[in-house]
Amino acid sequence: MLSPEEYRDLQNHMQALGDGSLLRLVLLNRDEYKPESLALAEEELRKRKLDCITLDEFAKKFPGEYYPYVPTFCPTCLDETTDEPAGFMFYFRGIGTLLRGRGSECDVCGSTVQGKWIYFIFPIFLIGKYRVKYLEDPWMKRGKRVTRRLKAKGSMRHFS
Ligand SMILES: [Zn+2]
Repeated sequence: MLSPEEYRDLQNHMQALGDGSLLRLVLLNRDEYKPESLALAEEELRKRKLDCITLDEFAKKFPGEYYPYVPTFCPTCLDETTDEPAGFMFYFRGIGTLLRGRGSECDVCGSTVQGKWIYFIFPIFLIGKYRVKYLEDPWMKRGKRVTRRLKAKGSMRHFS
């Protein structure tokens, strides 16, 4: 249980959070918070008349608070890619396939453009270009990512 001081500190903390951060806490990251914190965050949202907002509305209103925290691309990045993922990759002792390079970082969802290359000591053949989003989740394995192939039209401008 919280002492009155701790409760007040927590309350002050929630009141100091911006609308987007508060909504993210309640809608996306609720598993990471204790029930007391969640209750205070929800109370604060009620006061701000933001308690009825849906996940879709939240994503639209605060894209920068939503897209970096979900394994999804923002609408702009979805629009310039297809459903095709980069697929299986294998690399051992200089031979195989790797995603390489970095370009056209998205401010909203944090994805970048990378090329899928066949390696034979050096990258020798570019198979395709993909939007890649690396998921920042300490519980997930390193290198966990989501990928979507860039549409062919105009894709060169995204890669350097
Ligand atoms: Zn994006």
